[in-house]
Amino acid sequence: MKTEIQRALITGGSRGIGFHITKKLTENGIDVCIAGRDGTSLREAKGQLLQNPLSAQVHTIQIDLEQTDAPQQLIREAGEKLGGLDLLVNNAGICLNRSLEETSLKEWDRIMHINARAPYFLCQHALPWLRDSSVPTIIQIASVVGHNGYESQSAYAASKHALLGFTKSLAKEVQHEGIRVYTLSPGGVATEMIGAARPDLDDSALIDPTEISDLVWYILTHRGNAMIDNLMIRRAAKTAWS
Ligand code: NAD
Repeated sequence: MKTEIQRALITGGSRGIGFHITKKLTENGIDVCIAGRDGTSLREAKGQLLQNPLSAQVHTIQIDLEQTDAPQQLIREAGEKLGGLDLLVNNAGICLNRSLEETSLKEWDRIMHINARAPYFLCQHALPWLRDSSVPTIIQIASVVGHNGYESQSAYAASKHALLGFTKSLAKEVQHEGIRVYTLSPGGVATEMIGAARPDLDDSALIDPTEISDLVWYILTHRGNAMIDNLMIRRAAKTAWS
């Protein structure tokens, strides 16, 4: 299957779910720009991706999405490096395992800024670039925690509910322009994040990040009359419909 998408920005593309989405795209000829906080991780990820002789171009931008001006700066730089933008993947995020009573104002602000404010303004600044694309697409990596509340994850849950909430409005606002806005809501993916947040989960039952990148690829290669607003993705071991 093919997609007309040629240029993509993936936040948090140097590791975890973001890295595997990036790998899938570059293997299939899509030029990417990956953004993250850590320059070494970005360089290592780029090196790893370019080991594939068939890889498309890989650009990196070191940026801290907690900073107020970061979304605007990142979209401008990525758009210039890629020569346009067809796809924005809002993947970067942090988790916090702390009871509501113990969560500090600083922790609340940080998680809301990275998980909700940054994607909001990344979408806002990406829209003018996406309007010049023939296949404008936004993919939000939310979470099952954006639909359910989990103990000791109230701030994370609030940030992912916020992401989901503004995405529902955005999808309606831009639908008439042909801009496709998808949300993926996974739970329990085997990355550094889950290792720290849910050490109680059985490693062998976690979702492999390549399973998420395969679903992203399915979405991108099926731009027909059927549209997916949100995909709920649970661990097979978890109770159905929970
Ligand atoms: P991860 O910790 O491996 O990767 C997170 C990425 O976000 C890293 O590349 C990191 O550099 C980037 N990032 C974090 N803070 C940043 C900042 N201030 N500025 C720029 N980049 C920043 O985690 P992951 O599991 O790959 O998570 C990716 C996304 O998937 C997150 O939004 C997470 O909430 C979501 N998610 C993960 C799971 C899971 O079980 N792992 C489940 C549901 C949703």
